Amino acid sequence: MLYADYNATAPVRPEARDAMMNALDVGANPSSVHAPGRAARKLLETARSQVSLGIGARAQDIVFTSGGTEANALALNGVVAQLEGKCTLLVSAIEHEAVMKNAGYAGVPIETVYVTSNGVIDLDFLHDRLSKWDISRDGTPVLALMLANNETGILQPVAEAAAMVREAGGLTHCDAVQGLGKVMVNVNLLGVDYLALSAHKVGGPQGVGALWVRSGAPLKPVLFGGGQEKSLRSGTENLTGIVGFGAATEAAIRDMPNLQALATRRDRMEQKLTSEAGITVFGADVDRLAQTSNFAIAGFRAETQVMAMDLAGVAVSSGSACSSGKVKRSIVLSAMGIGDDLSDSAIRVSFGWQSTADQFDTVAEAWLQAARRASLI
Ligand code: PLP
Repeated sequence: MLYADYNATAPVRPEARDAMMNALDVGANPSSVHAPGRAARKLLETARSQVSLGIGARAQDIVFTSGGTEANALALNGVVAQLEGKCTLLVSAIEHEAVMKNAGYAGVPIETVYVTSNGVIDLDFLHDRLSKWDISRDGTPVLALMLANNETGILQPVAEAAAMVREAGGLTHCDAVQGLGKVMVNVNLLGVDYLALSAHKVGGPQGVGALWVRSGAPLKPVLFGGGQEKSLRSGTENLTGIVGFGAATEAAIRDMPNLQALATRRDRMEQKLTSEAGITVFGADVDRLAQTSNFAIAGFRAETQVMAMDLAGVAVSSGSACSSGKVKRSIVLSAMGIGDDLSDSAIRVSFGWQSTADQFDTVAEAWLQAARRASLI
């Protein structure tokens, strides 16, 4: 099977597997003071350093969580709680549901930051809105803007947006779950206040993530208990998972130079499918992740394509992978003004550490065959 669904989950890297096997053997609680506990703590702190180095941060500012969803939930609910609700959330129209829904339940006003038709947030709109900001009426502006979109791979101007928000006295949360290991992520260059990560997108295990919090940024815990992670995330740390996350992050950063080769072949695949089948490629004209391609041809439903590709031995997903396995209309493509017919036909091909550039050619051939069989070309 050719696996081309890394944006859903990347296969576990050997470095992560080895580190996790080693951590399993430690078998102690990192909060215990005895020798086995201290050994567990050492592994935990090594992983914290590895993850922090991956984003140019200090280890002490990393809070481990149960995944990207919880990291986003902690950031949004935690800042709202610390500000006692005196804030307005500015949420980009293309955020992952982990941001969108947590923002929706945070109990404070939300405003949408629109994207232009190329899938990039409208900085003029943001600037205009912030220039009319009235702190006494609107509270602190809190922007939620992702680094790279999970469906299209389109990169967002996070540093520019965060600078505007900071100027207006606000805070920025960045969901960098799809950015880590695929583009450079540096919290200081981004100028954000909170940044969410997830292990299983970089070749670590599922169910582990982290929130980076700028020192001094307002954040109240949303889970209470034993006071782990400097009381910001109570609950015994998932040592094995965290150790895998650390090792995977280190390996992902090391392997980043290999991504350029993928971009070249990805572009070639898109050109071939455009000339032979007239596909529409989303985000073709803007900066996007080298390993992601999201495209559609009207009338060829995504489910049909995914099944046909599966039969041909190629694992891809419909535009947005959905937990229920059902295909939902993409809010990302809708936000870009893409019509339903095209949007319902979008599929996503995403590669990673185990992929070879020539696999884009295999995907192209499998897709062309499926389209021919469906008499679409
Ligand atoms: N944010 C983005 C952009 C994602 O792509 C995902 C996963 O698909 C998440 C958050 C959620 O991360 P997790 O699966 O670790 O909860």
